[in-house]
Amino acid sequence: VQRYSAVVLGAGGVGKSALVMRYGKNVFLEQYDPTIEEEYDLTVEYEGKRSFLHLVDTAGTEQFTGINESYIQRGVGFVLVFSLTQEATLKEVDHIRQQIHRIKGGDENVPMVVVGTKLDLMGEREVSSEKMQELAMKWGVPFYETSAKKGWHVNEAFDHLLASMRKR
Ligand code: GDP
Ligand code: MG
Repeated sequence: VQRYSAVVLGAGGVGKSALVMRYGKNVFLEQYDPTIEEEYDLTVEYEGKRSFLHLVDTAGTEQFTGINESYIQRGVGFVLVFSLTQEATLKEVDHIRQQIHRIKGGDENVPMVVVGTKLDLMGEREVSSEKMQELAMKWGVPFYETSAKKGWHVNEAFDHLLASMRKR
């Protein structure tokens, strides 16, 4: 059975834990402990086959700590999360992306997806699809617009990551 290992990174409050819970358990809770750093061993169905995914839900990257550094060293694939309702959190994604390149020795092909969350909060949206497409081109990384609350496009984003990790 294929085994994969991925790390979820992004600013506090963007919805990392909600995303992981939707993907791993298909549930949505209104509140998650923001300080909790949790590792999950998930059995996932990918391309009709059962695979194992070790997934680390980190507690936020505002302070770029040694903990995050070691998660990046250990991780193979990365989910970079920002909130579509908070433009500043997209800058954080750029920062994390650069740290990953640095820590991975400039490797351009690190499996990575960028996930914008809270798509259901239409009225509060600050990051446009156009902006995301522009950055996807510039960074050469796929972007997904998701809602953990509604369950929109969450599996697609993780499937894309699994596909990129498989090629490694
Ligand atoms: P984390 O700090 O990045 O792990 O963020 P959390 O997963 O704890 O989510 C922070 C807050 O955003 C919580 O109150 C969640 O209920 C809310 N949230 C997360 N995802 C969504 C979503 O897709 N839609 C909406 N409306 N709220 C969300
Ligand atoms: Mg969390």
